[in-house]
Amino acid sequence: MQPSKPCPITQCIASMAPWALMCRTHWAMVPRPMQEAVNHYFRSRRGGPSHLKACRQAIEAVLKQLADEEQQRMATRKPYGD
Ligand SMILES: [Zn+2]
Repeated sequence: MQPSKPCPITQCIASMAPWALMCRTHWAMVPRPMQEAVNHYFRSRRGGPSHLKACRQAIEAVLKQLADEEQQRMATRKPYGD
């Protein structure tokens, strides 16, 4: 049986392969240049400071996008009735 670990994105319940940084859905939200940086360091300096930094930046990019979406939802929400 393949061990899996949870996606690091807050409130995400998807599990993923042990080598993956985050679940497929959230990985798709990472800007392409950041995906390439993570993959590049994964191959060349796996576990090193550059790799960990690229991973952290990718996760932060997704969290920021989610926060922005949430803020937009709140801003466009119309009050009931009227
Ligand atoms: Zn996820």
